[in-house]
Amino acid sequence: LVSRKKKAEDTVITVKGVEFGGKSPILIAGPCSVESYEQVRAVAENHAKRGLRTIRGGAYKPRTSPYDFQGLGEEGLQILKRIGDEFNLVTISEIVTPADLEMATKYIDVIQIGARNMQNFELLKAAGRVNKPILLKRGLSATIEEFIYAAEYIVSEGNTQVMLCERGIRTYEKATRNTLDISAVPLLKQETHLPVFVDVTHSTGRRDLLLPCAKAGFAIGSDGVMVEVHPDPDVALSDAKQQLNIPQFNEFVDELLASGLYKG
Ligand code: PEP
Ligand code: MN
Repeated sequence: LVSRKKKAEDTVITVKGVEFGGKSPILIAGPCSVESYEQVRAVAENHAKRGLRTIRGGAYKPRTSPYDFQGLGEEGLQILKRIGDEFNLVTISEIVTPADLEMATKYIDVIQIGARNMQNFELLKAAGRVNKPILLKRGLSATIEEFIYAAEYIVSEGNTQVMLCERGIRTYEKATRNTLDISAVPLLKQETHLPVFVDVTHSTGRRDLLLPCAKAGFAIGSDGVMVEVHPDPDVALSDAKQQLNIPQFNEFVDELLASGLYKG
């Protein structure tokens, strides 16, 4: 169902007037985790000034260690709802269990399924039965074929509003957190009719590589780039090392605009 052979034209998902997979590629930016209303608000206020319409933030964090910050849960989603309403932003947040999907639809606009859950088939099937767009991330060790089948799980249950996100895969290379598989973008665009995004934060894990990788993402035809921005990354409860602060984020956006690859 997600194949180009089944449907030749691109799937465009419109939320609050923002087109995912439309003519203009977009930026999906926001903190790694929702930590407080004030923290998300600082990012959202800057988004509004810059004309950005989409904000991300995790409320359920799939952390490697059980002793790391696990997210605010439903309270985090409530914060996103308040921010989304206040600034007219599209909100994106990860849900990790089928039991929370219905509840999440009350608060957020796009449900993210994270890399670690790309082959959580019960979660995929349940996501196929909700009436919200799903942003599906590529698994850490998933082939393109497995990634496409994961999307198929969602669509086959009835939810056609699915978008894909390349977020780096595990290789032997240790200089970056993961290896950004940039060729996945045109491949997925050829093989499927779904919108395709590139997450430059979780793929590289390096602040100094965010801009060149974002440029590569736009240049190679992605429908948008995801990047993390936090008012004070040094004290962030997750991904402190690679989030941009707000001035750095504004410079990042300016450089992308100057490159002509991203039109705003
Ligand atoms: C995230 O986007 O917050 C995240 C945890 O990403 P991933 O699932 O790609 O690791
Ligand atoms: Mn993160």
